[in-house]
Amino acid sequence: MTVAVDQKRAAILSAIDDNADAIIALSKFIHAHPEIAMQEFKSSAACADFLEKHGFRVDRGVADIPTAFAATAGESAPHIAFLSEYDALPGIGHGCGHNLIAIAGISAGLGLKAAIDAGVPGRVTVFGTPAEEAVGGKVLMADAGVFAGVDAAMGAHPGTSEATCPTVEGSGNALACQMVRIEFHGQAAHAAADPYNGRNALDAVILLFNGINALRQHVKSDARLHGIVTHGGDAPNIIPHYAAAEFFVRAATLAYMETLVEKVKNIAEGAALMTGVRLEFSRPEPANSDMITNYPMARRIKQHLDDLGLELPDAQPEEGTGSTDWGNVSYVTPSVETSYPILERVCTWHSQEVVEAADSELGYRNTLTVAKALALTGLDLLVDPSLLGSVKHAFTSELTRRQAAG
Ligand SMILES: [Zn+2]
Repeated sequence: MTVAVDQKRAAILSAIDDNADAIIALSKFIHAHPEIAMQEFKSSAACADFLEKHGFRVDRGVADIPTAFAATAGESAPHIAFLSEYDALPGIGHGCGHNLIAIAGISAGLGLKAAIDAGVPGRVTVFGTPAEEAVGGKVLMADAGVFAGVDAAMGAHPGTSEATCPTVEGSGNALACQMVRIEFHGQAAHAAADPYNGRNALDAVILLFNGINALRQHVKSDARLHGIVTHGGDAPNIIPHYAAAEFFVRAATLAYMETLVEKVKNIAEGAALMTGVRLEFSRPEPANSDMITNYPMARRIKQHLDDLGLELPDAQPEEGTGSTDWGNVSYVTPSVETSYPILERVCTWHSQEVVEAADSELGYRNTLTVAKALALTGLDLLVDPSLLGSVKHAFTSELTRRQAAG
């Protein structure tokens, strides 16, 4: 057993090492052709073509997203997924290093495929997940059911020298997030000649903001409510017949976020009633779920990273701050997105410094090491039913707890 597994491990490592030049060339191509969310036509095609050339069955345009794909090898269970991103930032380029996320997932897939080709029962899929910086391709893909039947999903995101793998209970969190659009339709009138004939939509927006400000005292400490006025009227001498605002409603769990969305809607209804205007309340984009990090899987990834010589600082428990489309994956299947360093210092993210680090020798070296750790973890999940069992148990119990967290 151990000798056989050692051979599969060696197959994984050499599949990644032997293809390193081609993998880095792919990443450099993506870096040199930065494409923003949902426009990643060259990048996604390059990734899908690469995987097809290496023997994966490639399904392009999954979930009706032209730049999404699913590339699969192997037939049997369990089914392990690696997630690749490749969208760039408007005006900056690859200032979030998604050209490295692309090859982290692809290299891990290539590695685990080598183990499956060498006789390990299982299936591996590399998912190309667009638009992480915008609508969140993973949200749409999760809604479309493309992750159904996946037993575990892994990915890696580059970071600074402070990057960690979320091995500690309470680390690796992200907030659930829903954007809401609130529009009020009133009646225009001359603001001096006949204001009594007007119904003021801007007043409703002002009352909405005041109501939400009052709500803030009565929400859990991890909730965030932040918004802007997107339309406040057309001229001071016209009673605004139309006014609108957009808010992000964030909370530690999807369930509590839903509670808060209802409260915000009640406030908007109250504001409309007070001013005699009509409310239009909508959710223009699907919600991001909070992130349920799978710690048994993260600990195994970290163990492989240590063994491969990429030792990271210890993760610390922390409240979620931002939101990620990984959250929606983590509600469907056990998930880990580890971070790892591509810089030997701390710097501002989404910056020119990151653009440079994302095309650096250190960036490529550490990305390939992380890919090996992900693939080796995938192999462990395929050959060790007790590890897969503990990963699934952790997933189910934490999902149940958060769904009840209200
Ligand atoms: Zn990113």
